[in-house]
Amino acid sequence: KRRVEPATAELVKEVVAAGAYDPVLPEPIGFEDYVAHGGYQLYRRLAGLDPHTFHAGPSVRLLDALNDSGLRGLGGAGFPTGRKWEIVRSQPAPRYMCVNADEGEPGTFKDRYYLRRDPHRFLEGALCAAHSIEAERVYIYLRDEYPAIREILLGAIARIEAEGLVRPGYLELRRGAGAYICGEESAMIESIEGKRGLPRHRPPYVAQVGLFGRPTLVNNVETLFWVRDIVEKGPAWFAQQGRHGSKGLRSYSVSGRVMDPGVKLAPAGITVRELIDEFCGGMAPGHRFRAYLPGGASGGILPASMADIPLDFGKLEHLGCFVGSHAVVVLSDKDDLKEVVRNLMRFFEDESCGQCTPCRVGTEKAVKLMQQPVWDTALLAELSRAMTDASICGLGQAASNPLKCLMKYFPEEFAA
Ligand code: SF4
Repeated sequence: KRRVEPATAELVKEVVAAGAYDPVLPEPIGFEDYVAHGGYQLYRRLAGLDPHTFHAGPSVRLLDALNDSGLRGLGGAGFPTGRKWEIVRSQPAPRYMCVNADEGEPGTFKDRYYLRRDPHRFLEGALCAAHSIEAERVYIYLRDEYPAIREILLGAIARIEAEGLVRPGYLELRRGAGAYICGEESAMIESIEGKRGLPRHRPPYVAQVGLFGRPTLVNNVETLFWVRDIVEKGPAWFAQQGRHGSKGLRSYSVSGRVMDPGVKLAPAGITVRELIDEFCGGMAPGHRFRAYLPGGASGGILPASMADIPLDFGKLEHLGCFVGSHAVVVLSDKDDLKEVVRNLMRFFEDESCGQCTPCRVGTEKAVKLMQQPVWDTALLAELSRAMTDASICGLGQAASNPLKCLMKYFPEEFAA
């Protein structure tokens, strides 16, 4: 089904007819519009496609810009982006690049928004990264539950191939198959290799031994989306946007009991109270703010009394939480928090890949304990510790975060 991109409006009509398009979201910016506003100039300069503006060593300056901007991996880990590119670049060739577009963390939908809104901006960022590390090939691993995005990306890739910006087949779009664990980078790499998506033990890290055993750069969609803006507007522009000591912009996926949920582009380090009041129109009518998940299903749960903590990497870890992919779920006095946390554990039980016992058995056992009328909190705490300490990957290590937080910060839930 690979084809040259039709006019954007036509493409959208087709996707709507297929029942796979939510018309509330904005229409994609097409190739002509993107190029008319300076699109692909950065990549053309880097790749030497425009000899008038090409000068030696542009990738090095791009890395300087990324390092100065403070851009971090926005898939959840928050590793400094420029540093990661440098590490992979320093490894022996051939090198590969994988884009993690398997946006499966519950409550996260920002990558979907950017891919649909401005697919070429993302592709340009991916091409700049690939050029910078001299990647042999780029694999984009897309969540299969995003069929409209797949159509949009296939069209956009075919168009830039037809324009001679990239050789045919250099960018390969791969379909995920609905497994949450394939959002974990080493499981994603296994899946791209055609194997079952099981996370690998580390070290070695994928930057050293990744796809097909070669050094591999793995970046999230949104991380790449910002590359062009950081170069054009300057690293200081991006770095200055933060709040409460943080640097940069973040796209918070806000859902739950707020007036106006959605993707909110806000300063890094904003607090949840500021996010609700300034970006979401306050709480929904009839709801009193009671609790929030700062980082999707695995980032823990905090009470409203702790709503003034900056939402950024490294700011919540001392509380047993993390901001991850910046999926903020706002809960109210109308929500049953025990049911919320039980539901999250059910999700992890379902999504555990089954490779290691603490996670496979631990999540199942935890769900059973949480289905009892009275929770055995001592046993649940012990089980959580074993899962955190002994699981192979982040899924098992973080699965009990909401449970541990509920027991720690919501003693009233257990008073009876
Ligand atoms: Fe699989 Fe869970 Fe072990 Fe990760 S922690 S490898 S998801 S069983």
